[in-house]
Amino acid sequence: MPIRLRRWAALAVCFLAQCLAGAAWAGVERLYVLNCGTSKTKDLSANWSPGANVGVAWEFSNHCYLIKHSQGWFLWDAGMADEIAAQPDGLPAAANGLLTLYVTKTLAAQLEEIEVAPSDVHAAAFSHFHADHVGDANLFTKAHLYVQAAEYDAAFGAEPQKFGFQPALYDKLRANAVTKLNGDHDVYGDGSVVILATPGHTAGH
Ligand SMILES: [Zn+2]
Repeated sequence: MPIRLRRWAALAVCFLAQCLAGAAWAGVERLYVLNCGTSKTKDLSANWSPGANVGVAWEFSNHCYLIKHSQGWFLWDAGMADEIAAQPDGLPAAANGLLTLYVTKTLAAQLEEIEVAPSDVHAAAFSHFHADHVGDANLFTKAHLYVQAAEYDAAFGAEPQKFGFQPALYDKLRANAVTKLNGDHDVYGDGSVVILATPGHTAGH
């Protein structure tokens, strides 16, 4: 690369680094990606790609994200229930082996490893309320919730089962403080943690 170009490239990288270290990540001190389970299917075409990949087996990873923000600990998603770890052959979540859930390392153990108590989590949001995303939600009774209004009303309304939800997994959060959202939301107002509304999979995904 000619020297002048190299200088421009260095400057571009510099600006990019400044951007990442500055505005976009303002209050974020650390991001933990936690293993929140895996799920396996014997036939990818059954639910995920109708008509394609017939009979193809697949494994999906499931993550939770714990953010250390200057204002406190923020959790995105609560994965599959820790209780599943007691079932080495997994928890069948659909008939005929179409979906089986596995937990090899509990969320509780991973939090303990980094010395974070569930009660330290001051804010939490869930991508949606299906069992593989709120499995350990009941641990976080001290968290201020950020949930799309449509999702909250479906989950805590009269007929959560109608939406495929299992209220026993998250019912302890009924009394939590909540900010009901109607669209995108910048949690800390600094651009570092922004929840995007992508309805479709569920009403308030
Ligand atoms: Zn789902």
